[in-house]
Amino acid sequence: MTYATAVERPVRPNPCIRTFWHMGQRLSFRTSPSRPSGRLPGSTSSAAAELRGVSKTFGAGDQAVRALRDVTIGFAPGVFTAIMGPSGSGKSTLLNVLAGLDRVDAGEVFIGGTEITGLEDRGLTLLRRRRLGFVFQSFNLMPALTARENIVLPSELDRRRVDQDELASLVHSLGIADRLHHRPSELSGGQQQRVAIARALLGRPDLVVCDEPTGALDSTSGAEVLSALRAACDERRQTVVMVTHDAAAACRADRVLVLRDGRLVEEIDAPTLDRVTTALNDAGTPAAAGSVAS
Ligand code: ADP
Ligand code: MG
Repeated sequence: MTYATAVERPVRPNPCIRTFWHMGQRLSFRTSPSRPSGRLPGSTSSAAAELRGVSKTFGAGDQAVRALRDVTIGFAPGVFTAIMGPSGSGKSTLLNVLAGLDRVDAGEVFIGGTEITGLEDRGLTLLRRRRLGFVFQSFNLMPALTARENIVLPSELDRRRVDQDELASLVHSLGIADRLHHRPSELSGGQQQRVAIARALLGRPDLVVCDEPTGALDSTSGAEVLSALRAACDERRQTVVMVTHDAAAACRADRVLVLRDGRLVEEIDAPTLDRVTTALNDAGTPAAAGSVAS
């Protein structure tokens, strides 16, 4: 059952609060009276995710850090986007607000047409569980569980039925079908990250966010992980947003966004190493020396 087919049951008189019952749980979110559908004017309903005029400041007064300044960007389905920029330029903050892990100070964030900036905590948690996949630099696998148990854990916690055919095809395409009964400590770093990718992709979330997914891997394993993310976009039409310091890794993406001081300063479609390196130099950071994208 999707949100669209959930039964709408108004339980509050406030016209700006809409409540849905979904799988026995109540989801409430605010809608703007001027945009009752929850969509941005002029935005395509097909965008997997969008930021519109997003700003985020940490701290206050002299200590204030403006991590994001008026960032507007859309992520179309099936597109692989890499985010680059100097350390402290706002890359992780952008990923976190996109995934609803950080609240914004201004602007709007949409996931699959739902404005998450208006969601209450519980609705946000459910939406994150069902419509977002996460891949971290450090894999974040449960050490006591097998690879298979790790992959299906979010679905089981959410009492969602696991599509066994999808699981089988996913682990086959990731090359980990024969590793499913091993614990993380019995797997290489690249295999662990591919388990984490299978966990993120299972259930076909609207958006998969990856924060330096190849950062802890050797070049061969990193290349395998990038191929897996590339295939997720090309073959499964999933939408991937990846932060990376590696210009060659970023060139496996369909486009590269470059941040500087919390602002989007460059958007490169069909990136080449030359263009990305130049953009990074312009943004004040040299391209990383090591490459995982051979
Ligand atoms: P990047 O991922 O590009 O290195 P971040 O998004 O992590 O940058 O951080 C952007 C800026 O915001 C940095 O100056 C960082 O120190 C600051 N920042 C990030 N998270 C916090 C936080 N939770 N509290 C205070 N400052 C933060
Ligand atoms: Mg970061």
